[in-house]
Amino acid sequence: MAINVLLIGSGGREHALAWKLAQSPELGTLHAAPGNPGIAEHASLVSLDIADHAAVAAFCHDHDVGLVVVGPEAPLVAGLADALAEAGVPVFGPSAAAAQLEGSKGFTKDLCARHDIPTARYKRFTDASSARDYVEAGGVPVVIKADGLAAGKGVTVAMTRDEALKAVDACFAGEFGAAGAELVVEAFLEGEEASLFCICDGERAVFFGTAQDHKRAFDRDRGPNTGGMGAYSPALPMTEAVTARVMREIIEPTLAGMKEAGTPFRGVLYAGLMLTEEGPQLIEYNVRFGDPECQVLMPRLKSDILPILLASAQGDLSGIVPEWSNERALTVVMATDGYPGTYVTGTEIRSLPSPTDDALIFHAGTAVRDGQLVAVGGRVLNVTATGSSVREAARRAYDLLEKVEWDEGFWRSDIGHRAIMTEPN
Ligand code: AMP
Repeated sequence: MAINVLLIGSGGREHALAWKLAQSPELGTLHAAPGNPGIAEHASLVSLDIADHAAVAAFCHDHDVGLVVVGPEAPLVAGLADALAEAGVPVFGPSAAAAQLEGSKGFTKDLCARHDIPTARYKRFTDASSARDYVEAGGVPVVIKADGLAAGKGVTVAMTRDEALKAVDACFAGEFGAAGAELVVEAFLEGEEASLFCICDGERAVFFGTAQDHKRAFDRDRGPNTGGMGAYSPALPMTEAVTARVMREIIEPTLAGMKEAGTPFRGVLYAGLMLTEEGPQLIEYNVRFGDPECQVLMPRLKSDILPILLASAQGDLSGIVPEWSNERALTVVMATDGYPGTYVTGTEIRSLPSPTDDALIFHAGTAVRDGQLVAVGGRVLNVTATGSSVREAARRAYDLLEKVEWDEGFWRSDIGHRAIMTEPN
């Protein structure tokens, strides 16, 4: 029987999910709230107040929705999955209690401490003066993190004592609102970063790929941090041995610990890792797909995604073994000039090239106004391609990107550079 799905979100991540869901032979109608013009090619867009959980549940009942897929973290931390589960609607994503893995850094660090999960040494603080004393007594570099969700802005990697103290003060002065009522001071870890994804059903974690993203705005990792300017998959340093170690030392004890705590984890578990000389260590967990990492996972996934997400929502992933293509995937984010600072919105995207067999464009911050596609966000388009090597995927992505007619966009020209350097010419 065909399954109607409601997809929540409006970014490049959700366009990639919509694109993949639309290929499922089991899909009935795909609804998306609020969606974007790219998602509209695959889904019927609905305007729903996502914060009104009763309204979302009512929509699901009225439209016979058999699965809700929640893209971003905020609705999960706010308890949307709990409300839908209570209303009898299967939902892909964790409960609010389990979403604390992303919603509270202190919660995750305490879980790691209880279960010997490798992560940076840390201490939690609820007042500035004890946090300052601790920072004064310790060395630098040191990392200061607001406890709660701060839209990716709550972390300071402080290279000097002054910077560290300023970050402590800013946090308790309310710079991150409620997210900064508590903070975590943690030891600085050195190594290469990579991301690993799993789909979980409360007990089991099924490996769901790896990726590396590029956080800085400009080439050669210069400029301010962003939500991500590009990514490629699989991540070069995530060999089979490293992956197996992460599953054994980090992911499996996390699933067991969450179950033991009475907060079993369902949905995507996205581990941000630092690959140190002593082995992989957990930097952070996210409870949803990464954006732009999702855009490079979906084109490599050969299996139908709908039964996988549904099995997670129903709490039984036994027998689910996702199949992956051996191809590499790479995505280049096109952002509006000025991002991640201030930027103008409403600039015209005059023309987008047609997708090819190996390259396509996922929309993020776009809208249609008076029949014209315009940019309405910081990150606007994700040009994504596959290839037998990262170099080939990059060439295909940049070839397609050159055909985008949008004057106010900028992008990095070196996505995947570290992986490409290691590939034979
Ligand atoms: P988070 O939001 O916790 O992922 O932190 C954002 C970024 O800060 C990470 O992607 C790392 O680059 C950096 N970071 C966080 N924690 C540490 C740490 N303990 N040591 C070094 N860098 C870190």
